[in-house]
Amino acid sequence: MGKVLIIGAGGVGTVVANKAAQNSDVFTEIMLASRTQSKCDAIAADVKKRSGVAIKTAKVDADSVAELVGLLNRFKPELVINVALPYQDLSIMDACLECGVNYLDTANYEPKDEAHFEYSWQWAYQDKFKKAGLTAILGCGFDPGVTSIFTAYAAKHHFDEIQYLDIVDCNAGDHGKAFATNFNPEINIREVTQKGKYWENGSWVETEPHEIHKALTYPEIGQKESYVIYHEELESLVKNFPTLKRARFWMTFGQEYLTHLRVIQNIGMARIDEVEYNGVKIVPIQFLKAVLPDPGKLGENYTGQTSIGCRIKGLKNGKERTYYVYNNCSHEAAYKETGAQGVSYTTGVPATIGARMFMQGIWKKPGVFNVEEFNPDPFMEQLNKQGLPWHEIFNEDLELA
Ligand code: NDP
Repeated sequence: MGKVLIIGAGGVGTVVANKAAQNSDVFTEIMLASRTQSKCDAIAADVKKRSGVAIKTAKVDADSVAELVGLLNRFKPELVINVALPYQDLSIMDACLECGVNYLDTANYEPKDEAHFEYSWQWAYQDKFKKAGLTAILGCGFDPGVTSIFTAYAAKHHFDEIQYLDIVDCNAGDHGKAFATNFNPEINIREVTQKGKYWENGSWVETEPHEIHKALTYPEIGQKESYVIYHEELESLVKNFPTLKRARFWMTFGQEYLTHLRVIQNIGMARIDEVEYNGVKIVPIQFLKAVLPDPGKLGENYTGQTSIGCRIKGLKNGKERTYYVYNNCSHEAAYKETGAQGVSYTTGVPATIGARMFMQGIWKKPGVFNVEEFNPDPFMEQLNKQGLPWHEIFNEDLELA
């Protein structure tokens, strides 16, 4: 039980604020802070209408450790939920260390000037958090997050040895726009335009972007073309589950989406370096973000659902077994409950559950941890209660030889 500070007033921050308010039995005081205070105020007013809970707001530039330290010292939270951008992970972790505050995020650190993400920067904080007696929970959204917890749950309850892991992420929603990203466009486009990568027999195999693809069948949705891309949870999962012979991540994309992406890249709008325009320096991908639809505003006309899960093959009692665990989330239901679409919802709900686990002392140990290093059971129980119920299918064809 204690005070929580949410940083980042975007689509995910909207969901975390709403869900934290619904969990006011553990979050005794809630503050939402972001670069633009008016966004925090609008979310707080909406939360008050929906759940009657008052949320404090503040302005903070999370790139500045000094500003963060000032805010943490004034509000004195137990835990920071970082749902700003991956660029801010390290400055927020530094401020948490300086002020004795615990930390949780949903995406690993990325430098602004390099389209590259990996855990090494944050894992390097292990000793500092341990010495300070503070907990840092990394990657507690849906993917990474729930997918990692699904894997830990499968390894704990259904297998003696997990050998093949395919994380399958389908968004079968329709927002009615010709092109839009479902979360921050800059981060999203950087992620999906990079080379593909998967783990096989002890090393990484690199592919051209979207080189490997096939139609996979998703529950209640049907067949969707799915593409192997590199996704951050693979890095920690192959480390924490060394019996994995292969680990891949599949995401569905429509042809329209891929065509737009290709054009964006070909005309230079995905560039992350500065270019001079009319005497002003601009970064093309940041300019593009400014003209694309705001992912936080897609919710109103969003129909259909997401389906994200883990397809696992391995051994139980010496016999081969397959297991598929997944959640389907309706964009419309998410919007009705929180005012945000399904992708923000499936990220914000797990972040809030992780924070709840911490506040209750269930996920609390000094150091820096990926979510699969904690007990998955109480988290899985909360998923069913907090709006993301999951389902299991045993010994069916996983379509992924
Ligand atoms: P948005 O772009 O909608 O929101 C990000 C928010 O962060 C904005 O409100 C922005 O403020 C704020 N922000 C950015 N820079 C700063 C800064 N320097 N100081 C303070 N606030 C800042 O993104 P989303 O809500 O869609 O995504 C949030 C996070 O969730 C991202 O890190 C994303 O990678 C992660 N994510 C994780 C997923 C998972 O499953 N694990 C899936 C989807 C997203 P302002 O508006 O004022 O500029």
